[in-house]
Amino acid sequence: MLPAAVLPTPLTRVDDPEFAAAGAELWLKRDDLAHPTVPGNKWRKLAPNLELAVAQGARGLLTYGGAYSTHVRAVAAAAHGLGLASVGVIRGAELAGRPRNWSLARAERDGMVLEFVERSAYREAAAGGRERREGYYVLPEGGSNGPAVRGAAVIAGELAAQQPDFGPGDVVCCAVGTGGTLAGIAAGLPEGPRALGVAVLRGEGYLEGEVSALHRAGYGREFTNWRLAHGWHGGGYGKVPLELERFAHWFQGAYGVPVERRYVAKALWAVYGLLRAGEFGGRRVTVVVTGVPDPER
Ligand SMILES: *Cc1c(COP(=O)(O)O)cnc(C)c1O
Repeated sequence: MLPAAVLPTPLTRVDDPEFAAAGAELWLKRDDLAHPTVPGNKWRKLAPNLELAVAQGARGLLTYGGAYSTHVRAVAAAAHGLGLASVGVIRGAELAGRPRNWSLARAERDGMVLEFVERSAYREAAAGGRERREGYYVLPEGGSNGPAVRGAAVIAGELAAQQPDFGPGDVVCCAVGTGGTLAGIAAGLPEGPRALGVAVLRGEGYLEGEVSALHRAGYGREFTNWRLAHGWHGGGYGKVPLELERFAHWFQGAYGVPVERRYVAKALWAVYGLLRAGEFGGRRVTVVVTGVPDPER
């Protein structure tokens, strides 16, 4: 049995003196608490896809990812819970003969069959993403497709119901990898509030195009109520410079919220940086806590 999600996820205020001094407010949408086995935004994006897979009578799920992909683990856990088979196409043929890292070991424990492919072949396979495999429902790398965007839009719908005077003074912020979560939040917002995505990868320019493409895939149109901040990737995906580590450590200790480092830490870091740059005077900023830290090993 796949455990149920606990929705709506909590919305909590962070009583931060710096925000108060700027006449602003900081709130957290605790999506890290959404689901016991499929973490955070991966659950939001998978939920509509799982419904489709089951409705289509799929016998399994197939997806793509790197050796530490949260999305790959999430797909394995979801398939396991639903009694479906799962296949993970993993970047890096050289990994096949090595002992599994904790992330791949977790996916295998959930019954996922791992297929390791050369980096060059992986690019092509994952980009095409439309591998035909009899009876398998195929999810793209990172899990962002039209249904995923509609799943993430529910986050914004919950916020509108939870925050009584939700409106033009609100900014909703999340970290951006493939852009599915940001696309969904923007699409789900009512007129007034705006969405701000914090890119965790280098790659100015192309990411905007990805978000627009996801809007077309999920809603058949584009939206203008969002933007991306590019200055807070800390050197690139998975890079955590000392300054960012110090900040995340401080935030975690000061406010008792576990801060996942690859994404959530960068979103929070950006929000404080933009506050100091005078961007949020009088605003209520809600950061979506999109995931949980890696397990201690
Ligand atoms: C995967 C992930 C993201 C990125 O979501 P996208 O929809 O790919 O942009 C953000 N935060 C966390 C914690 C994640 O695991």
